[in-house]
Amino acid sequence: MGINILVVDDSSVMRAMIIKTLRMSSLDLGEIQEAGNGVEGLDALARQWTDMVILDINMPVMNGEDMLIRMRENPETRDIPAVVISTEGSKTRIDRLIKLGASFVHKPFTPELIRNTINQRLGIGGDHE
Ligand SMILES: [Mg+2]
Repeated sequence: MGINILVVDDSSVMRAMIIKTLRMSSLDLGEIQEAGNGVEGLDALARQWTDMVILDINMPVMNGEDMLIRMRENPETRDIPAVVISTEGSKTRIDRLIKLGASFVHKPFTPELIRNTINQRLGIGGDHE
C-alpha cells in the first residue's frame, strides 16, 4: 500500500509543482489529495485516511499554522506527520511550527530535499532518529 499524501496550498501552481516532485521522488505513493486552504485540508483529512500532510503557511480562510493546531487537537489526526513548505522567514513562527511537530522546508525547494524530508518523517532509509 502506498503513502496517502494531502497537499494543502492556496496556489494550484505550487500544488502541481509539489505533486510533480512527489511523483519524481521514487516514493511509493497511494492517493494524493489536494486542498486550497486549512478548512478544505481538515475536511479532506476527515474523509480519507492520510499518512502525511504537506502544507503551506499563508493561505486564505484558514492558514497552515491554524490547520496544524486543529490537527494536533484532534485525536484522529494528531499523529499525522506534517511538512511545511513555505517562504516564511520568521524564526519565531518556524519554531512554533516545529513545536507542533512539523518539518520545515523553505521555498524554493529541490526534489531531493522534499524526498529526503518525507522519508525522514516516515522513517524510511537514510539518517533519521
Ligand atoms: Mg500560500
